[in-house]
Amino acid sequence: MRFYVLTLFPDMVLDGLHTSIIGRALQAGHLSIEAVNIRDYSANKHQKVDDYPYGGGAGMLMQAQPVYDAFRSVTERIGRKPRCIYLTPQGKTFHQGMAKELALEEELIFLCGHYEGIDERVLEEIVTDYVSIGDYVLTGGELPAMVMIDAISRMVPGVLSNEASGSSESFEDCLLEYPQYSRPEEWMGKKVPEILLSGHHKNIEAWRREQSKLRTKERRPDLWEQYLREHPEL
Ligand code: SAM
Repeated sequence: MRFYVLTLFPDMVLDGLHTSIIGRALQAGHLSIEAVNIRDYSANKHQKVDDYPYGGGAGMLMQAQPVYDAFRSVTERIGRKPRCIYLTPQGKTFHQGMAKELALEEELIFLCGHYEGIDERVLEEIVTDYVSIGDYVLTGGELPAMVMIDAISRMVPGVLSNEASGSSESFEDCLLEYPQYSRPEEWMGKKVPEILLSGHHKNIEAWRREQSKLRTKERRPDLWEQYLREHPEL
């Protein structure tokens, strides 16, 4: 999977993603990430990329031309136009299902806004998907792009050393994951549930399933409702 990130802060994106599991997956060649500095495509001699919005209002807006040229620098080089995701609080809210679907793409372009956002005309020209990471406003699209790249990358074969862990986690089948325990068997007077020490895999699986349901019901009633809708037999 190849990611291209159009941004005013390439170091932020690259430094953040070249660590831990994603960093190792990059080194192993399961992923590649290229950060394209939009400022390099400014036609202005001071490398300015923002200006006042027509009609007035607070703040500055990223101009269409540098964003468009940064986008074209990628598409012309690779000879294709991959899906281009604009990170925006006005987009569809990102979720695990979207991460799985996007992980099937070979390449993705992420467009990070800053200031008050980006001139609408270039968005109309290049953006295929508008995605938000939640109902709050951040200063820029870099953190949302990193959040999405992390979640999508985990779904790319080879990125997680244990392939199974990507498919038994929270949000699979509309349930949260069950509670988990590691050594020691007793800590601060709290014992690991007996069943997990039994070695009886079938019973352990049933216990975990039950715990997943209880946890989802308690912590995410909205998800529980969805689970019930998708399992009318219950
Ligand atoms: N004026 C815009 C509005 O009201 O919709 C908000 C602009 S925000 C201050 C600057 C940039 O941060 C946006 O262009 C977008 O790229 C990014 N951003 C902020 N919040 C976000 C969110 N919840 N999800 C995705 N991107 C976000």
